[in-house]
Amino acid sequence: MGLESTATSAIEKKSAPETGEDKNGKLARKQKTSVALVKTEPSSQWKIEDSEDLYRIEGWGEPYFSINAAGHITVSPKGDRGGSLDLFELVNALKQRNLGLPMLLRFSDILEDRIERLNACFAKAIARYNYSGVYRGVFPVKCNQQRHLIEDLVRFGKPHQFGLEAGSKPELMIALALLDTPGALLICNGYKDREYIETAMLSQRLGQTAIIVLEQIEEVDLVIAASRQLGIKPILGVRAKLSTQGMGRWGTSSGDRAKFGLTIPEIIQAVEQLKAADLLDSLQLLHFHIGSQISAINVVKDAIREASQIYVELASLGADMKYLDVGGGLGVDYDGSQTNFYASKNYNMQNYANDIVAELKDTCAERQLPVPTLISESGRAIASHQSVLIFDVLSTCDAPSGQPEPPQEGEPPIIWNLWETYQSINVENFQEAYHDVAQFKEEAISRFNLGILRLTERARVERIYWACCEKILAITRQQDYVPDDLEELEKIMASIYYVNLSVFQSAPDCWAIDQLFPIMPIHRLGEEPTRRGILADLTCDSDGKIDRFIDLRDVKSVLELHSYQSGEPYYLGMFLSGAYQEIMGNLHNLFGDTNAIHIQLTPKGYQIEHVVKGDTMTEVVGYVQYDAEDLVESIRQRTEQALQEKRITLAESQRLLQTYEQSLSRYTYLNQ
Ligand SMILES: *Cc1c(COP(=O)(O)O)cnc(C)c1O
Repeated sequence: MGLESTATSAIEKKSAPETGEDKNGKLARKQKTSVALVKTEPSSQWKIEDSEDLYRIEGWGEPYFSINAAGHITVSPKGDRGGSLDLFELVNALKQRNLGLPMLLRFSDILEDRIERLNACFAKAIARYNYSGVYRGVFPVKCNQQRHLIEDLVRFGKPHQFGLEAGSKPELMIALALLDTPGALLICNGYKDREYIETAMLSQRLGQTAIIVLEQIEEVDLVIAASRQLGIKPILGVRAKLSTQGMGRWGTSSGDRAKFGLTIPEIIQAVEQLKAADLLDSLQLLHFHIGSQISAINVVKDAIREASQIYVELASLGADMKYLDVGGGLGVDYDGSQTNFYASKNYNMQNYANDIVAELKDTCAERQLPVPTLISESGRAIASHQSVLIFDVLSTCDAPSGQPEPPQEGEPPIIWNLWETYQSINVENFQEAYHDVAQFKEEAISRFNLGILRLTERARVERIYWACCEKILAITRQQDYVPDDLEELEKIMASIYYVNLSVFQSAPDCWAIDQLFPIMPIHRLGEEPTRRGILADLTCDSDGKIDRFIDLRDVKSVLELHSYQSGEPYYLGMFLSGAYQEIMGNLHNLFGDTNAIHIQLTPKGYQIEHVVKGDTMTEVVGYVQYDAEDLVESIRQRTEQALQEKRITLAESQRLLQTYEQSLSRYTYLNQ
């Protein structure tokens, strides 16, 4: 079947070497900065394939995103099972339905495909290693709690008895109400109080297989007490603090000082307490979670090795072990480099499943124990691909450019010096020239501050300085290797693309933890992108920008973009953003939730399943306790007063009130 064969080809194509790479992947990747592909004039030679290479769409987008002959991004929501949509045309069709940008498009078929793939990979590993247990994945609700998505997940997961994981009381409430798949697991993680524990236990009576995972030693007593009072035997798990530590951002999720989980002595203590309460047979699951986005497969291998030993030891201590829950961490290749760089991963889903299955099979065989049901709590790997954020460019601002006039007799020496440098810049001296002009500029500013240089002279200095930078940049772009001190030049000379978006609302991880998401235009891809820019958002916050972009090696500080013509739409897409971003997004400057549109593929095209309208201004001001009616009333009273004092005409006052009232019911983003 389609899926099976994908999994196979994926192993062959994608397995990355585990050795020979620098530990954090960075140094090894830094040897060469990307070669500039961009000249100032669009080249007629530019092909779709050049855009594919430039934006690395095959690396991160397969099998869901590609570029068609029209130079538009196409979405194949069912992966390689056929059917695709032109993303640009889709956005235009949605705009005609009065749905404004920015918009979040959700492709439920992608979600289904991700679930299918994950289950297929485990099924394949189980068959390959002759594993006599099963895989029962769960989706961690915290990754994306939106109702339509969780409903879809439960529905698509049914054939695989896919369950849910809750990390808090509110998430437990959602999971309990929505999960109706017989035999699917409901993993109860996070901090728990008596209420949480009782709710989970009582849900057994509704037919839920709720497993309470002990994360704190205090929870053992709570569980024992609740079990006695309710007369219900719970199914319990323990979360172990492994000594295997993940790397990167979430590296501290494991280890002795991790926030969650029980240390080995605490696990032993829990076993003794449960034994004394005659509940040791309730302990059936071992859980660990070594952090999200694990980039290196050897970290997964180490963790599984340690956990499988703990698992068999718990069995030998008398616990009725049946489940091993490997937590989250299955990575997403955001930059498509297949390396252990933090925005990538050097393994694929099949490698991941194989390593887990093989290790447990071996360890249990050695101890002659039955193998456990395997659980993973893969959130990122399931939810990321299904959503695409589309936003438009509002305007651009280029770095100063143009040919300066030669100096005149009588102009200060510093201008002459700059001019001479400008004229002398060539392939041999461009690095030295860059340092010289930077120094001249600094000197000019101190002279200006001392009152020696006039404002018009300073303007001349800056004009020649920018011209020098432009000339030097043109040379660096022809080089295979760009010295570190010149890399900043690309950034200094970048155009600013003002985009209709709030980074804080729609891409909080870009701002908070320097996460990288693939970002690229969704059309004009048959045309050479001659500009390089950074993205500035709508908020009045200097952090509200995106100036780090995926690259094959390391990170790019500018993104190749097409020249923007006012009045012509220019749409960008941020991809792989379906995990964590929506709920972590905040209302900085009161930019609210974006429109979210659920699209499903049909034999004839597509169907709009749900439209979740973004926040209106009335809603966002409501979050900070303003009542829209009160606001209107206050404006009305003030216009009344202004009318009486003849500061405003009747027509003006009506117009103001009307606009004010209408705005409140509108989207918080700009309308083009
Ligand atoms: C966050 C979390 C997950 C999800 O991790 P991903 O890397 O998104 O798959 C799973 N389990 C636990 C306990 C978590 O805290």
